[in-house]
Amino acid sequence: MTFQDFNFDSKLLDGLDSMGYNKPTAIQEQAIPLILQNKDLIACAQTGTGKTAAFLLPTLHKIINTPEKQRHLNTLIISPTRELATQIDQQVEGLGYFTGVSSISIYGGGDGAAWNQQKKALEDGAEIIIATPGRLIALLQMGKINFSHLKHLILDEADRMLDMGFYDDIIKIIKYLPVNRQTILFSATMPPKIRLLANTILKNPEEVNI
Ligand code: AMP
Repeated sequence: MTFQDFNFDSKLLDGLDSMGYNKPTAIQEQAIPLILQNKDLIACAQTGTGKTAAFLLPTLHKIINTPEKQRHLNTLIISPTRELATQIDQQVEGLGYFTGVSSISIYGGGDGAAWNQQKKALEDGAEIIIATPGRLIALLQMGKINFSHLKHLILDEADRMLDMGFYDDIIKIIKYLPVNRQTILFSATMPPKIRLLANTILKNPEEVNI
């Protein structure tokens, strides 16, 4: 199988070329078609399997194919840590280099300058937000993010987020999102707490396991 088999936009294929990705990994082969079909998805995959590109590639493809006038904040990716959020943002920039899709990572910790930069990027209209839960809730409570056009919610490393005590924060964030959205949950393990979260926030999900 090749990336051309997904009928990806040529700008995305150029991004894949520039990153040196020649062939989809197993999780990419399984998850990409389901995400392109707008299914909710539970994906059990470890770091190192290519899981990040598995959710970014179909998301970028769908954004590029959205008519210009309907291009708003499209995708929220929630990550447990600042490091992971930054890594995801770097892959958006690499894979999406030729697509013109804008992204921003939002996390706590940094200095006031970082905080102001994050608020400014939101006002400028990012299409993909990659956020850690605490900082995201702070911005939502300040009314700084408008999720009314959101199409995709992606939870990355969901088991780690629950281990870090973010269950209630995730539920709080979901209340700000449109009910009609695609929800995708990636996790390295599937303990009962993850099943409970999936039952609460996903609709008739497909499931893939690597
Ligand atoms: P991840 O599991 O998302 O942390 O990805 C692990 C590493 O694999 C990252 O450095 C990616 O850049 C790389 N990668 C992801 N997909 C592919 C692919 N199809 N071909 C080659 N490298 C890839």
